[in-house]
Amino acid sequence: MQDLNKIVIAIDGHSSCGKSTLAKDLAKELGYIYIDTGAMYRAITLFFLDKEIDYSRPEFCNVALKQIEISFKNVGGENLVCLNGEIVEDQIRTSRVANDVSEVAALASVRDFLKLQQQQMGKDKGIVMDGRDIGSVIFPHAELKFFVTASLSVRARRRFDELIGKGSEVSLTDVSKNLKKRDTIDSTRAVAPLIKAEDAVEIDNSNLNKEEQLELALGFAKSRLKHAITI
Ligand code: C5P
Repeated sequence: MQDLNKIVIAIDGHSSCGKSTLAKDLAKELGYIYIDTGAMYRAITLFFLDKEIDYSRPEFCNVALKQIEISFKNVGGENLVCLNGEIVEDQIRTSRVANDVSEVAALASVRDFLKLQQQQMGKDKGIVMDGRDIGSVIFPHAELKFFVTASLSVRARRRFDELIGKGSEVSLTDVSKNLKKRDTIDSTRAVAPLIKAEDAVEIDNSNLNKEEQLELALGFAKSRLKHAITI
């Protein structure tokens, strides 16, 4: 029987807009599972780069996908992405992976490979999933959808600070260029482009801190949950 305290929350938005932070915080507050689908695309990209796969050739890409298993391991309450059983959270957050991930994510075979798996993860509800096509393609009937955004300069500065904090040597200009490039590829690709689902609640967090953003989103989540219980 469907647990009425559980809904699906889909969060989409531009690169580095803080959607993962929101998704993680919401999942924690509601006791839900959090799934970062960007990490899944990044893990596939890591495999292609490490194995020097020419993923622009469909035949090579399809053979390589057969050798990939993506999973999540819960460590200390955090769901960490694994590539063929190995946790690869650190390796997937590098500029090397960031530079290629949107090209990889634009491939229909790669999206098909992950789609079913992502839908399976949400079959019992009680999940917050973030990405680019969650509200539009993966869970078009999600009870609650958010579309998160912020200005490019705010997003670039946040991502830059995060990378510098981790010891990476990057420039603000390069970070900004990468975000812009990824946004363009993500929004213009033929398969599952980044769009705001018609019924998504838009949150521009350029001037919101993490706590304000969470409070706003929690308000919507609680009202949807009340609605789910009364119908
Ligand atoms: O969310 P994150 O920035 O880590 O995602 C990395 C890349 O993966 C995005 O730039 C996008 O190209 C791709 N992606 C996607 N669909 C998703 C999640 C991520 O195309 N659902």
